[in-house]
Amino acid sequence: MKYNPVLYIAAVLFALAVSGCSVSNNPQHREIKLLQKGKLTDDTSFVYHLPYGENSNHLVVQGYFSMYTHKHRAALDFKMKKGTKIFAARDGIVLRLKEDGDKGGADAKFRPYGNYVVIQHADSARTGYWHLQYNGVLVNVGDTVKQGQVIGLSGKTGYTYFPHLHFIVWKTDGNGKWTQIGTRFQTNKGIRYLRPLRFYRNSLPTKQIH
Ligand SMILES: [Zn+2]
Repeated sequence: MKYNPVLYIAAVLFALAVSGCSVSNNPQHREIKLLQKGKLTDDTSFVYHLPYGENSNHLVVQGYFSMYTHKHRAALDFKMKKGTKIFAARDGIVLRLKEDGDKGGADAKFRPYGNYVVIQHADSARTGYWHLQYNGVLVNVGDTVKQGQVIGLSGKTGYTYFPHLHFIVWKTDGNGKWTQIGTRFQTNKGIRYLRPLRFYRNSLPTKQIH
């Protein structure tokens, strides 16, 4: 085929436009990318426990700002069977919960049925655990929970395509504005910002309180 400069330039511009579209305009997206690659080394942020049992290994199906439903969310989806024990990722106090949802599926109309627990931490950050099974919350509002304590059972309630745990951490600026943040986790391979489509094993002891 004959080289056509006009077509060539058009193709390059098209490729740039397409790749530009796939980059989230949320500035946190770039920051989390750098943290995942270990390029931001001045990191003193809290190290969370993986929210599942000792020696359990789970796949991150959606990571921070992944495509699909996390496009604008700094959240993690861990694939896990219904009824898997969920453990507190950090010490805190149970702020709110829901466990009467008994439906779930691949449609936004199921969103109100999602069961969850939200835990408040000492530095004002909050952690949320979503899609828990019906009656699957094993703590009460106001309870003090310890890192590595059982707090619930995973499920498939709310807006979800398959059984998994949607895990999310928020921080506040103190003026009522909340932001979802990426956090570090202790894994069996060291401290990591988790990436999608990888398995992460929890090597820390968990307490079978319930
Ligand atoms: Zn999710």
